[in-house]
Amino acid sequence: MKCLNCGKECTTYLCADCQSPEILEKIFNEIRSYKPETCENPYLIEYASGLTDKYAERDCLPDILNLFDKSINAYYYCLYYKMRRDNQFEDFVLTYLEEHDIHDLKTQRVLYELLGFYSRNDFIKPKKWSELISSHSGLCCELYVSAAEYYGMIGEYDLADEVMQKADASIRVIWSDEGAQAKIPGQFEQTSKWRKKPYWPSTEERRRAVAMFYDEKGITYPRIATRPAKTPENEFAPINECFDDELDDYSAFWCAEAFSVSAAKSIYQIAAVKVKDGKIVDEFQSYIRPWDGSIGRKAAAKEANVALDVIECADDIDIVLPKFFEFVGEDILVSTAALGNQAKLLSRAARYAGMKEIKNEFFDLLDLAADTDSKFDLANNTREYLLSFFGFDEGADSLGKARVNAMLYQKLSEYGE
Ligand SMILES: [Zn+2]
Repeated sequence: MKCLNCGKECTTYLCADCQSPEILEKIFNEIRSYKPETCENPYLIEYASGLTDKYAERDCLPDILNLFDKSINAYYYCLYYKMRRDNQFEDFVLTYLEEHDIHDLKTQRVLYELLGFYSRNDFIKPKKWSELISSHSGLCCELYVSAAEYYGMIGEYDLADEVMQKADASIRVIWSDEGAQAKIPGQFEQTSKWRKKPYWPSTEERRRAVAMFYDEKGITYPRIATRPAKTPENEFAPINECFDDELDDYSAFWCAEAFSVSAAKSIYQIAAVKVKDGKIVDEFQSYIRPWDGSIGRKAAAKEANVALDVIECADDIDIVLPKFFEFVGEDILVSTAALGNQAKLLSRAARYAGMKEIKNEFFDLLDLAADTDSKFDLANNTREYLLSFFGFDEGADSLGKARVNAMLYQKLSEYGE
């Protein structure tokens, strides 16, 4: 075996002459960032060239570290466990931090690694460390930026800006490059973005952790449960047409289409009225948060003549649709264009709610109208014509339109009798 530093034949990775803290620092960094094309240490290149697994050159680090006593190698073990994603990392670092002064650069480096390990993953444990950082002056810039990011993510925006003032004033950095100072404007900007729209993680577990802090601060946040995956169009069962023409019991319904620049329209409201023996016996209506972008939500608020908040805070489609289908039960679903645009809207909504099919049958009032009398066919086969023919006003909202559907069914089924 050759010494990795000087190439002398010996029985360890570093010969007796090369076992100094300075050489350890050099060798550790060379191994940590090892790439054959950039490495300038010929003995390390020679050693690594005999290895095949990715990062296998790092396997010798524990043997190298064990050539030194704990007062020297503890710091490198912290970095080593981090780079190997070893689960001893956290415990080892916590012990290190207990035993070392925060003003020491190595302690700060280790703490920085710990905060990186927690970042966007644990929202409780970094609190203590962020408080420690913000209560000290003269620490490295990177630590203040990490603490500010943490504070921003739990809704402590003023604390985030306060600790960033310290970053701004800081003259120390963990690394000699200018990366740390370059991050300062971005972190201030991030906090101001989070003030307007709070940070929101992508998993339910993390959302729950963040929501705890937001609850304390009175910050509102979106739903915690993640939406089910949407069903692809080709996996969604075709809708069922109803071929009965005399319905005693049914649900008349309406979906309000949200404006969209794409062809795939979402809906912002859904309603149904339950009809038994020709009489409306129950009603259902709910707003839905349109799922395809803010333009659709703004347009929906305008069309519904409500504040944008009402639409923004409405439940997602996968929460509303189960309630809708519970309300209509096994009823036949009746509307103008029930087999046309309304079916499209409801099917798409169902797919976005993760449903694979709609079991209910659909009954189209425009088909009934055409079959009832030729005066309702062709150019007159529209909802507008039927409304004006029977002297009905269009409903003001989806519920109103669902009621109109029930009235149209009544009129058409009685027509010409
Ligand atoms: Zn040597």
